[in-house]
This record gives sequence, C-alpha cells and structure tokens, in this order.
Amino acid sequence: MKIRINKAACVGNARCWAVSEALFPLDDDGYIEVEEVDVPAGMEALARRGARACPERVIEIIDEDGDPK
Ligand code: SF4
Repeated sequence: MKIRINKAACVGNARCWAVSEALFPLDDDGYIEVEEVDVPAGMEALARRGARACPERVIEIIDEDGDPK
C-alpha cells in the first residue's frame, strides 16, 4: 500500500500528523513534507485513518493493485 499526497493542496492543519507522525511528516512550516509514502506492514489502518482525517482530501490511498481507494 502507498499513500500519495497532493502537497500543493495541503493547508497545513496537521490532522494527518496527529494520526501518525511517522506516516505523515510535516515540514518546518507545518505542511506535509512527502508526496508518496510506502506504508510499512501493519500500518495500513493508520494510513487509511490519516487519509480520512485530512479535511482537504489531498491524501490518496493506493492499494497493491494500483487502484486508488
Ligand atoms: S491533514 Fe491534509 S491538509 Fe492537513 S497537514 Fe495533513 S495533508 Fe495537509
């Protein structure tokens, strides 16, 4: 599973980071720092929760089959 993030649309409210600092690192200005993350085994639920937590809906979950969910 991967996470893909539309960084340009991030507004920096850190809702994703509050779910998982490891999956959703922020830069010094409080905006999401990464555009694509390989989700480590066992962190899939956190990844999905983080994506749901983003009010801007800029976080997309990509499953192994490549289909956006
Ligand atoms: S929750 Fe969304 S808008 Fe907020 S910091 Fe994370 S990616 Fe950016």
